[in-house]
Amino acid sequence: MASASALIDAHGRTIRYLRISVTDRCDLRCRYCMAETMQFLPRERLMSADEIASLAECFIARGVHKIRLSGGEPLMRGDTVALAERLGSRLGNGLDELTMTTNATRLARHAGALAAAGIRRINVSLDSRDPDTFRHITRTGDLARVLDGIEAARAAGIAIKINMVALKGLNEHEIAPMLAWCGEQGFDLSLIETMPLGVIDEDRTDRFLPLPGVFEALSSRFSLVRDSFRTAGPARYWQLTGTSTRLGLISPLTANFCDGCNRVRLTTEGLLYLCLGQDAHVDLRAALRDGGPPAVDAAIEAAMARKPAAHDFRIAPGAAPAVARHMSVTGG
Ligand code: SAM
Ligand code: SF4
Repeated sequence: MASASALIDAHGRTIRYLRISVTDRCDLRCRYCMAETMQFLPRERLMSADEIASLAECFIARGVHKIRLSGGEPLMRGDTVALAERLGSRLGNGLDELTMTTNATRLARHAGALAAAGIRRINVSLDSRDPDTFRHITRTGDLARVLDGIEAARAAGIAIKINMVALKGLNEHEIAPMLAWCGEQGFDLSLIETMPLGVIDEDRTDRFLPLPGVFEALSSRFSLVRDSFRTAGPARYWQLTGTSTRLGLISPLTANFCDGCNRVRLTTEGLLYLCLGQDAHVDLRAALRDGGPPAVDAAIEAAMARKPAAHDFRIAPGAAPAVARHMSVTGG
């Protein structure tokens, strides 16, 4: 490898975190994420697990110490667990953390193997604990399967963070009960503002729920203490008094978080996106095929100069999404 120096972008931010969307496919169709009839990539366009692992190695060599497997639904791919095992072998030896974001529909089957691979924490999307509302938001989802997946992960010793997208008129009345439930279960909870990524069948403005108001309402019901815990990520955290639960707020629309951004995102086609909300990207699979790891390293280095300072998300009635690709392409 040409250089072992850390990856520093043009704005002085050190890149330590890689998110990999291992597939754009999903068994659910969450309304804020996807259109009901999504066009997914033909399978031959997906990188092989070997290619994904090779690209991951190039990032680890440049100081990336955290990798998250995401999607689409990462567990839709038959070789995701094997990939996790492979990347997991780098834990303590280049990688500090390997983690996953999943909708948990297939987690019951795989939780044990993921834990054995070294995954210690997992993010599970759960926008409602009411079976009908869950089905409505996901269009196809079976809440019981997701809860089974969560239980299996807990039994395997994996710490759980629930991701809940706050949706006006859909699940806003469930936010406080979700926080109480997470407190009882020992789960963390991240609340997320819906982001304008990709065309869906609805106008996101109708469902956009600004988190500052949500937080104010939660503060009047729960004892929440500002937590100094800070990742280089977008969330701000509070501790739910008397529990181990940490509440995170991910508010890209109402509180820009880009100053400390430490991450880049790899699609299942091998495109490295430098910002969730911008189009700047480079083709790392092409570099890998043309020149192997040295060419990938050079491409990553060159990409650092192109990482945008910030997203420019905006939610307004009738406004086009900030970028045409859905969150499932770059992994949430
Ligand atoms: N399928 C997995 C899941 O749902 O956990 C992983 C991929 S999903 C794209 C990752 C996260 O992004 C989920 O927590 C989901 O709720 C969130 N998400 C998807 N589309 C979003 C959007 N437009 N705005 C905000 N969050 C979104
Ligand atoms: Fe699938 Fe996750 Fe998007 Fe829901 S949020 S449709 S589970 S990729």
